[in-house]
Amino acid sequence: MSVRRSSVQELLRSQELEREVVVKGWVRTRRGNKYVQFIAVNDGSGFNSIQVVANAEQFPEEQLKADGVENGAAVAVRGQLVASQGKGQTVEIQATEITVLGKADPTEYPLQKKGHSLEFLREIAHLRPRTNTFGAVLRIRHAMAFAVHQFFNDQGFFYVHTPIITGSDAEGAGQMFRVTTLPEQNPPLTEDKSAVDYKQDFFGKQTNLTVSGQLEGEIAALALGKVYTFGPTFRAENSNTARHLAEFWMIEPEVAFNDLQDNMDLAEDFLRYLVRYALENCQDDLKFLNEQYDKELLGRLQFVVDNDFQRLNYTEAVGILKSAKQKFEFPVDWGTDLQSEHERYLVEKHFKKPVILINYPKDIKAFYMKLNDDNQTVRAMDVLFPGIGEIIGGSEREESLEKLTKRMAEMNVPEHELWWYLELRKYGTAPHSGFGLGFERLVLFVTGMANIRDVIPFPRFPKSAEF
Ligand code: ATP
Ligand code: MN
Repeated sequence: MSVRRSSVQELLRSQELEREVVVKGWVRTRRGNKYVQFIAVNDGSGFNSIQVVANAEQFPEEQLKADGVENGAAVAVRGQLVASQGKGQTVEIQATEITVLGKADPTEYPLQKKGHSLEFLREIAHLRPRTNTFGAVLRIRHAMAFAVHQFFNDQGFFYVHTPIITGSDAEGAGQMFRVTTLPEQNPPLTEDKSAVDYKQDFFGKQTNLTVSGQLEGEIAALALGKVYTFGPTFRAENSNTARHLAEFWMIEPEVAFNDLQDNMDLAEDFLRYLVRYALENCQDDLKFLNEQYDKELLGRLQFVVDNDFQRLNYTEAVGILKSAKQKFEFPVDWGTDLQSEHERYLVEKHFKKPVILINYPKDIKAFYMKLNDDNQTVRAMDVLFPGIGEIIGGSEREESLEKLTKRMAEMNVPEHELWWYLELRKYGTAPHSGFGLGFERLVLFVTGMANIRDVIPFPRFPKSAEF
C-alpha cells in the first residue's frame, strides 16, 4: 500500500510512532560515522528539520556520497517514524529507502554549511529561501499577511482591490513609474510637436504604477463602510536606505465615520494584533532570529503587545526635540518634516515606546488631510516604531468639498484629474479616516532584520531588478 507523503512539521508533531512514513525535502546536513549517517531533511514546512537515520549496513557512506545525498540535494525518504535516541529532537526516521530526486554538486552549490553574509545572500535570491534565515523570514511574512486578513475579516472589513495602473499622478505620495506602450524611438508627438501625444498611448492618456490605493479605497469606504486594500505599490524615489523599496506592499484600511481618534485606535489595535499573532504562531522562527541576529527581538515584540502607544501632537514633539541634548544631523523647526533620526529619538530615547504623532503642519502633508480649526495643522497621524521610524502614515480625510478644492488649488493638484474624488464630497460625503501600513516595515519590525531588502523575496531598489 502506498504511504502518503507527510510534511516534516506534521511528523515532528506526530504522536503516532512506529509507522511507515514518506517525506520529501532538501538535505541540510549529512554527518555521522562508519556505522550510521544522520541526514537532516528540511522541506520548508517549518524551521526544524527531521533527522533521517541511515544505517551503514544498508546505506554505506560511500554509497550515499555516490548517490548524491549531500547538502542541497532534493531527496525522498521512506522509513519508520520512531522515537529519537539522540537529543535535539523527539522523533526521527529510520530510513529504508533514500532516493535522490535532484543532486546539488557539493563542490559548486553556493550555500555552504559555514553560513553566509546577508549581502552575499541578496546576490543569490533564487537560493536564499533555502537558508534558515530566509525560511524563517518568509514564513513569518506569510503569517503576517494571513493575520492581516484575519484581523480585518473578524472586524467586518471588506477587502477591496484597487488598481495597480492608475490614470492620476496627483496622489502626491511619491515619484511614479510611467506605464506606456508607445515606442521608445520616435513616439507620436502632439500637433505642435512640443510633447509626446499620450492620446495615442494604450489607455489614451498618461498612466503610472500606483503609489497608494487610498483614493480608490475612499470610494469603497463611502459605500461599504469598512474596507482595506493590500497590494503592491511603487515609488520611483531614489532612496537607497534600509527602509525603502521601489516596490513594496501596503495595507490601507479606510473607514467611513471614523475620526482621527478612531483611526489611532484602529492602528494601535491592528499593530498589536499582528505582533501578538507572530509571537503566538511563529515561535520556532522567531526564536531562531532572536538567537541569531537580535537578542532583544522577543522582548521588544512583547513590549509592543503589553504597552499603550504614546500619543502626542507634532508641535509637542518639536518642543521635545528642540530641548533634546542629542545633536541631530538635520535641524528641527516647526513646519519641517521630521527625519528618521528625530522619529527614532522620540521612540527609542525619549518615550521608549511606540509613538503616534498627530496634527502635523498642513504644508508638509497631503492635500486630502482634514484641516484643523487652527487652519495651520491637519489631522494626520504617523505611527513611529523602534528601529524603524515611520511604520504607518494616515489621517482623517477632508470631507468638505469647499475646503478640499481650496487645498487642492493651494497645492497645485489639478481638479480635472480627480473629478471623481471630488464627487465623493458632492454626493453623500461623510467623515472618514484611514492609513497605510508598509507591509515590509512591519515584517522588518517583527523579524528584527536590519535591512528591508531582506524581508521581501525579490527586492526592487535603484539599479536592481534581478530575479
Ligand atoms: P517615508 O517618510 O518613510 O519615506 P512616506 O511618508 O513616504 O514614508 P507614506 O506615503 O505615508 O510614506 O506611506 C505609508 C507607509 O508606507 C509608510 O508609513 C511606510 O510604512 C510605507 N512606505 C512608504 N514608502 C515606502 C518605501 N519606499 N518602501 C517601503 N515602505 C514604504
Ligand atoms: Mn508618511
